[in-house]
Amino acid sequence: MNRRTILKSAALLPFVSPSTELVTSAPTARKRSVRFAYMGDTHITPETKPMEGVAKCFHHAQNQTDKPAFFLHGGDVIMDALKQDRTDVQKQWDAWHTVVKADNSLPIEYCIGNHDIWGYEQAQTDPMYGKKWAVDLMKIGNRYRSFDRNGWHFIILDSVQMTPENKWYTGFIDPEQLDWLKSDLAKTDPKTPILILSHIPIFSPTGFYSQQNVKNGNWTISGGLVLSNTPDLIKLFYQYPNVKAALSGHMHLLDRVEYNGVTYLCNGAVSGNWWKTEMHEQTKAGYALFDLYDDGTVERTYLQYR
Ligand SMILES: [Zn+2]
Repeated sequence: MNRRTILKSAALLPFVSPSTELVTSAPTARKRSVRFAYMGDTHITPETKPMEGVAKCFHHAQNQTDKPAFFLHGGDVIMDALKQDRTDVQKQWDAWHTVVKADNSLPIEYCIGNHDIWGYEQAQTDPMYGKKWAVDLMKIGNRYRSFDRNGWHFIILDSVQMTPENKWYTGFIDPEQLDWLKSDLAKTDPKTPILILSHIPIFSPTGFYSQQNVKNGNWTISGGLVLSNTPDLIKLFYQYPNVKAALSGHMHLLDRVEYNGVTYLCNGAVSGNWWKTEMHEQTKAGYALFDLYDDGTVERTYLQYR
């Protein structure tokens, strides 16, 4: 290389360097819209372990230096109302409200879980039978609803439908609620990012966790684990690119799925293995901090609180 070539190469350098930087630099910086804490499957009872556990979880979230603005509860607040009598269910709700009053100062937005529904057979004529009791105590007005907060639209679905014929439940969005969902999505500004919450996952690989879900060599994932009308929902969400995230609980397992531009997140459980052990399968008991951004992106941090 002679002197002239060296000078020529050197002269090129300033042009190469800035243009490389331009290519790699990020587009306009996103801004955080809100931080909230997701807690779900608290399954509280009037016993010490669950009451102390839930209290610890509330404190852990509220003591963060970067504090959440509110809690989103993914359902299964209490251990079980489906098969219990009035006195027993009342005690569980009392335990929940005792802890909330003593250990939480943030607003809580609730979603109904299968164990929050009062399905006690002898109570079928009671006005509180079914979802009414939970709707009243959660102060949510209706079993499904939507609201706007910090530039995001939140849709809280009622994913659990009772099946009195076998005294159980299954997961799907009933026709009346589906019509409401369609119109709610249609009237939301296409520039507003949307977050959906359902207790039972809309789309999740967690149904594959157990060998019990294999029958005669084939997977049989019940509607009690993943909603049975998920295909309708996937098609619906595909029409609305502003649907960005769909959160769930129910499985007590942690997952994250990206599909058609929607991030589906199943968010573990505060109760772990229903307060028996800290782990359920490979997921530890915990709650999640969510950061939502104005460009529609979502970040989750799953934390242990003990
Ligand atoms: Zn649960």
